[in-house]
Amino acid sequence: MKHNFGAGPGILPHEVLKQAAAGVIDFNGTGLSILEISHRAPEFEAVLNEAVKLVKELFEVPEGYSVLFLQGGASMQFAMAPYNLLPEGGKAAYVESGVWANKALKEAKNFGEVQVVATSKESNFTYIPKDFTIPADAAYFHITSNNTIYGTQMHAFPKSPVPLVCDMSSDIFSRKVNVADFGLIYAGAQKNMGPAGVTLVIVKDDILGKTGRKIPAMLNYQTQIEGGSMYNTPPVFAIYVSMLTLNWLKSKGGVEAIEKENKAKSAVLYEEIERNPLFKPVCATEDRSDMNVTFVVNNPEHEKPFLKLCDEKGIVGIKGHRSVGGFRASIYNALPITSVYVLIDTMREFAEKNK
Ligand SMILES: *Cc1c(COP(=O)(O)O)cnc(C)c1O
Repeated sequence: MKHNFGAGPGILPHEVLKQAAAGVIDFNGTGLSILEISHRAPEFEAVLNEAVKLVKELFEVPEGYSVLFLQGGASMQFAMAPYNLLPEGGKAAYVESGVWANKALKEAKNFGEVQVVATSKESNFTYIPKDFTIPADAAYFHITSNNTIYGTQMHAFPKSPVPLVCDMSSDIFSRKVNVADFGLIYAGAQKNMGPAGVTLVIVKDDILGKTGRKIPAMLNYQTQIEGGSMYNTPPVFAIYVSMLTLNWLKSKGGVEAIEKENKAKSAVLYEEIERNPLFKPVCATEDRSDMNVTFVVNNPEHEKPFLKLCDEKGIVGIKGHRSVGGFRASIYNALPITSVYVLIDTMREFAEKNK
């Protein structure tokens, strides 16, 4: 078994993979594969309903919100959010906390004025910008809860006078969140919730329908709500595996329990990065992510041999994003703490060898 620290698509629980594999051959005793049944079959409708129910349960989604499973990834949401929320001649406010945030705000510029209220670009996004005022005349305020590439995370969310829109792709269901504080939450499933091919959207119904703009059916949240995520053929298999993963999370004790585990995993790893003389962290201490742990070597010549040692130990996906360099250990929900200990032992062994 490998220790999968990949940033995305990321690790899934082994039990889920086994269930998914069985469903590909014979889905729930139907004698058909999950890949070849009608999305209108009651057996699949039950899967979709269960997935929606689990999202509502695990995240304690209040009344007045709709849960959708859409295609197009988080990148589609970069456009869909302004398309649905930003009126002609209106303004949206964004925090630029990384490349994904930057892509989101660029997309919004196609629909109206964009005000970047804060950025950490000048430091290559090694911290979360905190000093800003949210303009009360903005149609919405967009943030990125976890910056996958840099390893920073918003540990407290701003109180917003306008609907708060959040890209939670890389830390959805990793910690407790008060959904009522948000107008729109979206997340590509493939980091922390399931396989690639489906995107979770949680939207507050009463923020919709205010732009006066014509919106193509597929890109219109209202159409998708009315169609129950089945306006067209949904990504059946990706929804199925997401449902299995959410079910696994529930069986583990839910979001609160996994949050404790995630904190324990990141704490021991950051501790080792600080203690070990060969490595150092990248990001501002108070903004460090519990999902993507970034670090570098003090001596650049150590980079390749460390990667080689990791490879020998079955550690995969640890190489940092090309725009940051160094290393990134993505320690998503499904990664057991035992894998984190293997990484820590490997760092110690490497330090011993390179004294
Ligand atoms: C991976 C990622 C994206 C892009 O997701 P796609 O589903 O590939 O479009 C966007 N935002 C964040 C924070 C991400 O980690």
